[in-house]
Order: sequence, then structure tokens, then C-alpha cells
Amino acid sequence: MEKVFLVCPSCRTRLSFAAVAGYQDKIVECPICHFKAKANVYQGGNVAKGGNGADSQTQMPTQLSGAMQSKNDLGQIRVVNTKQCCPLKLGTNVIGRIAQSGKADIQITNDPYMSRRHLQIDVVKTNYGIEHHLVEINSKNIIKLNGAPINRNDILKLNFGYKLTLGIIDIYLEETDEEATQIV
Ligand SMILES: [Zn+2]
Repeated sequence: MEKVFLVCPSCRTRLSFAAVAGYQDKIVECPICHFKAKANVYQGGNVAKGGNGADSQTQMPTQLSGAMQSKNDLGQIRVVNTKQCCPLKLGTNVIGRIAQSGKADIQITNDPYMSRRHLQIDVVKTNYGIEHHLVEINSKNIIKLNGAPINRNDILKLNFGYKLTLGIIDIYLEETDEEATQIV
């Protein structure tokens, strides 16, 4: 059976369920943040690789290919303990804990060591492809990059596979794949 991919408008987790007839009118409850609405209120969660990334005609200059990591994929973050996959969008993505007010764009868990707005990942389009920048936003709680604490006001370039620790929660920056939280 074919799957429908949706992105929760509240916490931005990618969700999937079986494409039954008339699913658009089905009430879908996000298992992560418990947002509840008809399926057609959720955003489409297409997972076509690079589909919403850089223009396909953007080419690496040949002398540079292989010398640096080129990305056309906006990427996603994967939360280790909840297995949430949240697609990133071009521009600013603030990540934090699940909250009713002052919430982040991407909400992961309700861990008390996680700030409501804990860190920011900027997805930037350059001539050489997509870049991911980790931006420190004066969070009360610590942020580690690949195990090492980052400093106030740091802006650091991220590659796919990098691990970020927010409080006690590990998340990975990854290429977009088809992982999604299954709705039953
Ligand atoms: Zn949600």
C-alpha cells in the first residue's frame, strides 16, 4: 500500500500513514506533539531527494568537486530517542522543546533540560550548494557539537552526520530520507 507523507504544522515532524481512500478528511493526531487536524491541514511531506533544494542547474565547478562537500539537500534532523525526523526548510529553523507558547519551529520532546528555543540551524543557499549553519541563540541550556560544548554567539558550519546534543537529547543532521513517524 502506498504511503502518504505529511509534516506536522505544529512540531514539524514528518509523519506517514497508509494512503487509504479519502484520507484527506481523516483526523490525524501527531504522536509527538498531539496536534490534531484533518490530514489536508498538514503540509505535504514529500521526501524526493533534493526536491526542494538548490536549483538542479547549479553545478559545482569541476576543479572543486570532491574537494569539498557539496549539498543540494535541505536535510533533516533526526532525534535519537524519539526517532522523529523533521525536514529543514531554507532559512531559519529554531529547534526546541514542545511548548504551547514561545515555541520553536521544530519541537522535539518535553525534556526539562531543553529550552523552548534551544538552537537555530540556518539553511543557506550558496553558489556551491546548500550550507547548514549552527547558530547559538543564547539558550539557557548547553549545546554540544560532536561532543564538545559550543560557545556563546558561535556560528558553525555543519555537515551531514554531525551530532548535536541539546540538554541530554542527541540529534543528527542528515540527508533527507524516507524515515517518518508512522501513524496507526
Ligand atoms: Zn506534531
